[in-house]
Amino acid sequence: MSACDDFKGLLMGLIDEELTPDETGRVHRHLKRCAACRREYEQLRETASKIGGVSYREPADEVLESLWNAPYSHYTRVSGIVLIIGGWAALILYILYEWIVRNSQGIFPKIGAAMMIVGFVILLFTAIRERIVKHKVDPYREVVR
Ligand SMILES: [Zn+2]
Repeated sequence: MSACDDFKGLLMGLIDEELTPDETGRVHRHLKRCAACRREYEQLRETASKIGGVSYREPADEVLESLWNAPYSHYTRVSGIVLIIGGWAALILYILYEWIVRNSQGIFPKIGAAMMIVGFVILLFTAIRERIVKHKVDPYREVVR
């Protein structure tokens, strides 16, 4: 009983990582044996994470990670799309140049170019349609909120 009271004072310190290695070891050893303190420790940890306490390490790390990852993944995605579209446009221009200016006889580049242009038109059409649908839906969402 008195041992548990001693450890309860240390639980918050364990969550804050303010204990000496010796104290940390002692608290962990006690938590392994004592279900009551383990429950208290879990509750304290949950409360600390809900408050989003500066003292609690993991949520703060998660926030930093999401801040770091969000723009990063956004830029990689955008640069990937830009590279694909850029390479694709260069290829089409090259094929059109061969086809029209140099009157190339190859049939495969023409088929390839035609497929890519049709594909692009389909994607463009889909994107515009989605934009229009979203635009129509958005005002209703605002009203509901
Ligand atoms: Zn205990």
